[in-house]
Amino acid sequence: MSRKIKYFRESIKLVWKSAPGWTFTNIVISVLRSFLPLLLIWLLKDLIDEITRASTAGPGASYNNVIWYIVAVVVLWFLDEAVSDLGNFIRKKQSMKLEAYMYGLLHAKAIKLDLINFEKPEYFDCLARASREAPWRPNNILNNVISMFRGLLSLILMAGVLTFLHWTLALLLLVVNIPGIWLRFSFADLLYNFQRKQTPEARKTAYFNWLLTGDRPSREIRLFGIGKYFISLFNRSFLKTKEEEIKIIRKRTFIEFISDIFKAAGVLITLIFIARKTISGSLTLGQMAMFLLAFRQGMVYIKDLFGSLAGLYEDSLYIGDTFEFLNLKETIVANPPVVELSDFRKNILVDNLSFTYPGNTEKTINNISFEIKKGEIIALVGPNGAGKSTLVRILSRLYDPDSGIVKFDGNDIKNIDPEKYRKLFSVVFQDFMLYNLDAGENIRLGDIDEEKADEKIKLSASESGIHDLLNNLPNGYSTVIGNLFDDSRELSWGEWQKIALARALFRDAPVLILDEPSSALDADTEYDIFSRFREIVKGRTSILISHRFTNVSLADKIIVLDKGAIAETGTHDELMKKKGIYFTMYTKQSSRFEK
Ligand code: ATP
Repeated sequence: MSRKIKYFRESIKLVWKSAPGWTFTNIVISVLRSFLPLLLIWLLKDLIDEITRASTAGPGASYNNVIWYIVAVVVLWFLDEAVSDLGNFIRKKQSMKLEAYMYGLLHAKAIKLDLINFEKPEYFDCLARASREAPWRPNNILNNVISMFRGLLSLILMAGVLTFLHWTLALLLLVVNIPGIWLRFSFADLLYNFQRKQTPEARKTAYFNWLLTGDRPSREIRLFGIGKYFISLFNRSFLKTKEEEIKIIRKRTFIEFISDIFKAAGVLITLIFIARKTISGSLTLGQMAMFLLAFRQGMVYIKDLFGSLAGLYEDSLYIGDTFEFLNLKETIVANPPVVELSDFRKNILVDNLSFTYPGNTEKTINNISFEIKKGEIIALVGPNGAGKSTLVRILSRLYDPDSGIVKFDGNDIKNIDPEKYRKLFSVVFQDFMLYNLDAGENIRLGDIDEEKADEKIKLSASESGIHDLLNNLPNGYSTVIGNLFDDSRELSWGEWQKIALARALFRDAPVLILDEPSSALDADTEYDIFSRFREIVKGRTSILISHRFTNVSLADKIIVLDKGAIAETGTHDELMKKKGIYFTMYTKQSSRFEK
């Protein structure tokens, strides 16, 4: 319970921080709206009594008073409507501000969190729930709190009016609403737990939807003719979640009917009571109208009041998901004593490194030790799944190892601020990114802080062999590439890869990591790049992962990984002499060309 209250407090703080002015206005308008309906009912009573008086006074009776009452009622009615419209606008504006603010928090967290989270399905569940709730739930809490107070205030006023007639009517108002309230509270838990349990299935549904509608899968879907198959998987997954939910809602609707019977009984008793009193002459027609309206309005308020209470209870269940995500802890941080680094001077030492992916039983990296000297070109080779990509993720501190240590110029990299440390690295990942932005920007993203970028962008593009193509696009480097937006130009996969390489070269980082950087390049470009490799990397320490042994042979040192461990190390000549794994893989590959 104390955690729920804490989350409420935090949510209200978030709402306030996102738009203090709008939040304040929202509160003022809401309070104003609790008084206007009561005033309106009161004036209606006086108007009806005035009309009754005028009608019983016979011909020649003055209409002046009636007219004044009519004008007052209309003005008040107009005010009530206008304030309600204004309130809607203010609520919309405030929730828009909050939405932007909450997205800001979610995104800031998502880009900071440890990469390892992306390997865990629970993380995606948590992210999915937080993204669903965060943009609007805190505002809902505020609105529920406001409407609870407004409902309470209005209810007290209306109950006060009813007590004039008989105190039991005020009590009746309360009693007939109890079943409905109980219903909402009890089903809140049920629905919440259901939705929480369903998050993985809902993500699966969203995944099948993406397969059917997304750009990337569209080609295979057509070629293999698997669209209908995925439609059936989508339907199965979709119906699985929805049918369960419908079962719960069906049950709730049935109980709602029963609770409505209670309310109808309350209305019946009140109507009979007021009718009898009016017929017996104890009530004027105006009073009758006022009490009827007060009872009806009271029913609305009590529904609002307990509705917002139950809503707050629901909010307390759901808002936890958002805070659960926002409170996830980053473990990849600078551990004290923090070391400041600005350049690479000597070497990177890897000592007894081991790493296992969450959920895996076998180590992906198993007790690895080696040294990379400044300025060296290191090649990492080995069969698929040997752990090459994983190793570079650890070296660039995207993952922390389970045991062992990486020392950068003699400093444990865990003592270095990860953001500053990563500034020393430039990487072309195996699954590099395609940014649907203009061509120049695609390269500039390698170092967004670089101010004098234009010439450098072109230089990097020339080095990766893409300059001529980009220069000849309709708007040159300003042409948007990709196929998502208007006036954009799609590139081939190999051309995208050249852009990714240019992006990495654009970044002035002392360590360059290239994970399969030429897998999609044509033979000419590949030859061109690798024959000038040392010139292109400009003395930077480079780690090259490749399955093409002609590229690898240029390295100063080749590390052969097998099943997460180092099988061999040496230069190309040394390893060829050794006649081990490297020799076997090399000769198998080259024999295909010699035949
Ligand atoms: P390739 O030559 O195919 O690119 P690699 O040597 O780069 O292979 P890694 O991608 O490092 O290999 O993967 C090493 C092992 O770790 C593989 O057996 C793979 O199944 C496992 N692995 C990789 N990524 C994950 C992950 N996100 N979660 C669990 N296991 C993973």
